[in-house]
Amino acid sequence: MTAHTPPSSCPTCGAILDAATGIKDMAVAHHLEPKPGDRTVCYQCGGLAIFDKRLMLRRPTSAERREMLRKPEIVAMHNKARKN
Ligand SMILES: [Zn+2]
Repeated sequence: MTAHTPPSSCPTCGAILDAATGIKDMAVAHHLEPKPGDRTVCYQCGGLAIFDKRLMLRRPTSAERREMLRKPEIVAMHNKARKN
């Protein structure tokens, strides 16, 4: 399930991202459009990012990053993208 989002650059690598695919247990899996605060992983570099209130991507805070890295599905995407 892929939803188009406003084009926004990855806060880690600068790739332009304009779609999000929901995965199990992530907020985007339960509704088509991402909403502010949803977590995401850049498909280019595996960088972690969060949708802000305008659905632009921002870097997670260190607390948010720790919380995201406790979720196996996020770690799997993070590691998969980084191998590419
Ligand atoms: Zn990236």
